[in-house]
Amino acid sequence: MTSSTPFIPHLIDGEPVGSASGARFDTVDPYTREPWAQVALGGAEEAARAVAAARRAFDHGPWPRMGFAERGAILHRLADLVEAHADELGGADTADMGKPLRDSRGNDVPRSALNFRFFADHARLSTGDALPMDSGHHAYTRFEPAGVVAAIAPWNFPLMLETWKIAPALAWGNTVVLKPAEDTPASASILARLALEAGVPAGVLNVVHGYGPDSAGQALTEDPRVDRITFTGESGTGRAISRAAAANLTPVSLELGGKGANLVFADADLDTAVSWSIRAIFANAGQVCLAGSRLYVQRPVYDEFLERFAAAADALVVGDPKDPGTDVGPLASYEHYLKVRGYVEGVEADGGKLRTGGLGDGWVVRPTVVVDVPGSARVYREEVFGPVVVVRPFDTEAEAVGLANDTRYGLNAMLFTENLSRAHRVAAALKAGTVWANCFFIRDLRAPFGGVGDSGVGREGGTFSREFFTEPKAVVMAI
Ligand code: NAD
Repeated sequence: MTSSTPFIPHLIDGEPVGSASGARFDTVDPYTREPWAQVALGGAEEAARAVAAARRAFDHGPWPRMGFAERGAILHRLADLVEAHADELGGADTADMGKPLRDSRGNDVPRSALNFRFFADHARLSTGDALPMDSGHHAYTRFEPAGVVAAIAPWNFPLMLETWKIAPALAWGNTVVLKPAEDTPASASILARLALEAGVPAGVLNVVHGYGPDSAGQALTEDPRVDRITFTGESGTGRAISRAAAANLTPVSLELGGKGANLVFADADLDTAVSWSIRAIFANAGQVCLAGSRLYVQRPVYDEFLERFAAAADALVVGDPKDPGTDVGPLASYEHYLKVRGYVEGVEADGGKLRTGGLGDGWVVRPTVVVDVPGSARVYREEVFGPVVVVRPFDTEAEAVGLANDTRYGLNAMLFTENLSRAHRVAAALKAGTVWANCFFIRDLRAPFGGVGDSGVGREGGTFSREFFTEPKAVVMAI
């Protein structure tokens, strides 16, 4: 590290600050495999300071007391600034976790701006119930901000998933302490700076960097001054956070892991099915909670589909994420690369075959298609979180549904068929928070988003975010 190495501070009460101890950690570019910036390493002390700032801003500051239109205008200004700083924000996520710049700058940044615009408008236009009662009383609902929100984020869509939490929390008048993933600190600090510039008052959005267990993350989940914890990450971490939150009865929203099933029926439009199935597992190098990592194909089209799917996987461009032509970059960190490599190396011992793919140079796993794998194999049952898909044939619709639901996860599923009745029937039978039919990844931010089983607790999006980030109050008046 040289004196010109960028430094990424916390942002507490409107001020960029280092840690009290001066401790720092490196953030590493997974393509060059070199550290590119140093980051303030927060712990319990920094988490406590950030919560105190958020508490003050909530209890005494203007933000929760502002009208929806005024707060919404500030959030729209923030969305404008996010768009205007697309290069900086997209570049930060690409440097931190190796996602192609085309995706970070081209998808995640616009979607992050949309998160602010959508929730600003949704809160302003949201209406509660008015309930005239037979007794002559009149009841109605108010949605009051919950208070201080701790938002704990993963590294796979850093800015996009952080804003998915921050935007509704702020729109409803809460104050926030964000703990970005340790592998992806940079875009959060830029965002917090832009929020101040947009007019979000000091203390309303704080960012603390650090790790999870015995570090800033855990400290936030144990702090009794926190009113809501919104977490996205692994299912095991979700359990630890639930336990910590239980001590203070703090409500938690958990968006966790997945092992998405993708069903291709013989009557599907195969062009559509191949192209979405490729994106479903190889976008973001498979580091997507929604990844279609279990692909089931009906036997009459199995050989043809597999041929076309494997050829399309081979045609993806693997390389430098800063190159606009790159489809698949490296995995996000060395630790994560080792995990995914372990699954690929274990395929044959577990009885499966690599149809295509395998390990690449550096921290790269090439788009990998696994066939003939028994249902007991680790790669088949566990969330790999990399560009690795298992493909199996099926015969009947009932068998396909049974295979799809045979998992402890339940975040999402996809199905491809030209039979309308089948699409509705199978969508209803699948155990999943979201089902996509003849498409993938298309989102309406009003829709519930979340999972069943090990994929999470609760839903976010539209009114579902409102329920979580507010304290709905009933007022009953005698008339
Ligand atoms: P992770 O659980 O390791 O870490 C997520 C965050 O939690 C990080 O900020 C980390 O520092 C923090 N953390 C870890 N332990 C903690 C603790 N004990 N207390 C408080 N904070 C703690 O997850 P990850 O590896 O960053 O992300 C990948 C996982 O996230 C995958 O399982 C993926 O499926 C899941 N994910 C889910 C969704 C969804 O919407 N359901 C979206 C994206 C990712």
